[in-house]
Amino acid sequence: MNKTIIVSNRLPLQISIEENDELKVVPSVGGLATGMKSVHADGNGIWIGWSGITDEDLDESLEKKVNSKIKEAKCRAVGLTEKDIEDYYLGFSNRTLWPLFHYFTEYTDFEKTHWEAYRRVNQKFADVVVDTIEDGDTVWVHDYQLLLLPAMIKAQKPNVTIGFFLHIPFPSYEIFRTFPWREELLTGMLGSDLLGFHTYDYERHFLSSVKRILRLDVKFNEISYYDRIIKVDSFPMGIDYEKFYNAALQHNDPKTEKSELQKRLDTHLNEKDDKKFILSIDRLDYTKGIPNRIRAFEYFLNAYPEYKEKVRLVMLAVPSRSGVPQYQKLKRETDELVGRINGQFSTVSWTPIWYFYRSLPFENLIDLYTSSDVALITPVRDGMNLVAKEYVATRTNQDGVLILSEMAGASKELNDALLINPNSFDDFATALNRALTMPLEEQKSRMKILQKRLKRYTVEKWAEEFFKSLEATNQVQEVVVSKKFNVTVENQLITDFKKAKNRLILLDYDGTLVGFKDNPQDAKPDKELYSLLDGFEEQENTNLCLISGRDKETFENWFGNKTYDLITDHGVWMRQKNEWEALERLKTDWMENIKPILMSFVDRTPGTFIEIKKYSLAWHYRTADPELAQVRTMELNTVLTSMVSNNELSVLQGNKVIEIKSSNVNKGRAANQLFVKNDYDFILIMGDDWTDEYMFEAAPEMAYTLKVGYVKTKAKYQIKGPEKVRELLQKLK
Ligand code: UDP
Repeated sequence: MNKTIIVSNRLPLQISIEENDELKVVPSVGGLATGMKSVHADGNGIWIGWSGITDEDLDESLEKKVNSKIKEAKCRAVGLTEKDIEDYYLGFSNRTLWPLFHYFTEYTDFEKTHWEAYRRVNQKFADVVVDTIEDGDTVWVHDYQLLLLPAMIKAQKPNVTIGFFLHIPFPSYEIFRTFPWREELLTGMLGSDLLGFHTYDYERHFLSSVKRILRLDVKFNEISYYDRIIKVDSFPMGIDYEKFYNAALQHNDPKTEKSELQKRLDTHLNEKDDKKFILSIDRLDYTKGIPNRIRAFEYFLNAYPEYKEKVRLVMLAVPSRSGVPQYQKLKRETDELVGRINGQFSTVSWTPIWYFYRSLPFENLIDLYTSSDVALITPVRDGMNLVAKEYVATRTNQDGVLILSEMAGASKELNDALLINPNSFDDFATALNRALTMPLEEQKSRMKILQKRLKRYTVEKWAEEFFKSLEATNQVQEVVVSKKFNVTVENQLITDFKKAKNRLILLDYDGTLVGFKDNPQDAKPDKELYSLLDGFEEQENTNLCLISGRDKETFENWFGNKTYDLITDHGVWMRQKNEWEALERLKTDWMENIKPILMSFVDRTPGTFIEIKKYSLAWHYRTADPELAQVRTMELNTVLTSMVSNNELSVLQGNKVIEIKSSNVNKGRAANQLFVKNDYDFILIMGDDWTDEYMFEAAPEMAYTLKVGYVKTKAKYQIKGPEKVRELLQKLK
């Protein structure tokens, strides 16, 4: 039976070493563990991650004990040293990726040793995963600590399905491009078959980086990556709605005994009937906008002095990453601000801010959620923000108002909250006033809509949807590889080649024999290619012909002293036995009219240029901004369509190039001249481009037609790239 492997930095277990080396193991109750329950605890799943104890704290016998406990919980541990944690986790994950992905570029360290540790630790994870999985299994990798892991797994286990979910934002290209190891990080992620993000914005930022940095083709939300199609989608993570709702119901039941915190809250809230209670809960992290919120509260009290003594901000800040200097600074700043504002506004009977710096047990969180009138959740940047969702789930009477920052991923789903820009104090003040005066009817109608969404799209549903989508990627892959040039076909081809008496090999040049270069003139034949092709010249009964859109002069230059056949300019010229012959008589007067149009596109589209050939004009856009190029190609196509129809011209859309040439010419017509000339009993045709489809179409049924690349084609088989083409040719020599 196939397994599902979940991988995250930490295992969903809290393990502590008690006296006498006794172990205490408590399962985590966090959202992720709940979401994964159906595949992990209830299903055929294994969870892989770090146990929370470094190698240094484990001797052999203790390690055995820990591992056996971990195994009981259907988990497997990745062993990490103190140094690993220092450099990979506290260093690279928390001081590079975390600030960068949350747009805190000034806090971002680009420390090479940390990057190397990140790579090393990702490989440690990969080793354990590879040791655990078999073909047909499914792996789901979580979060920013493991961005390199998908490719590391795929390299060793190409037949497992890999999903990846990023729990934090993916930043805009303008931020991501500053990262020194950007290509490698993206390539690491592309080991996945499905990549999930919380919101569409993160998804499109990621795709934009893939297009611009790796220059890959992206269609809607699919990336073509060699022989694979990678799907990218958004799956906003939900919460365990029932857990929060039911806990709140029970809390509100008069029979339930009150906690100490609740009693304290009640006393203070009842001081005056109309006292309102504003709640904020976050980890003490600079992304949460805590100092800004305190200052905005001060601004609000000054802007609306009538609220003095009538409202209280209860702020729970959960200690986090206290070893990192920025977090220490934030703690000091928060303490000072709270002190200053309380000092400034407090009266005998009123302190405006209650500030708790600690983490609270679940029951107390419910006390806070249910007692508050307004939740003020205002991160400056946040992947999702679950606190906002939990607050909504606990409002069993459907009263209460959520004020939420637009910068939280959750704001995309929670439109009926009061959404604010957390950098605007005016937004804060207006929203707070509006929340505090909102009629109960409106509170209820908003809360109802918010709850409906969260009740339906829970964390279980989120995991389910992701898995469904991950399984569906298998079907996409099958379509992609259905024409794959596999070993059986290859062996047959070689056998047929060997026994044939009269062979024709017809090869496109760019993208087939050599890879693409930014400048077409740089894609010259190399030594290896010459010797490969020379090998065919020496073989008897073998007719080799290169067929290209390149012009006669270029090919003359490169292959002038060779004896094999050449067809250039898409089929205008043919050279056989060192004699050039024009296959078509063509007019070129149209060029003078089209050139200025192309020039205007070059002027307006940096990174593009015109290639002027004898019988055609080509507009190349390989190094242009991919999104601008997309707009411009559409525009150019429209302009050209109206011009070409009267001139018997056609517009060809090639690989990052648009070419205008006479409609009378194409590679199919030219190839036909070869097919009819001789009685071939073996024909091999290879090409990568749209224009090569004419050859595939014109080829006799017995021919082996091979498309280079995995896009839709009329060829019988598909092969990966020039490297594979050369390997095949080598075998025919
Ligand atoms: N939380 C907690 N103890 C506390 C305060 C908060 O366990 O004392 C939980 C809270 O219920 C929520 C999580 O911590 O589930 C915070 O998640 P969120 O997405 O809001 O922020 P993150 O900390 O992941 O950035």
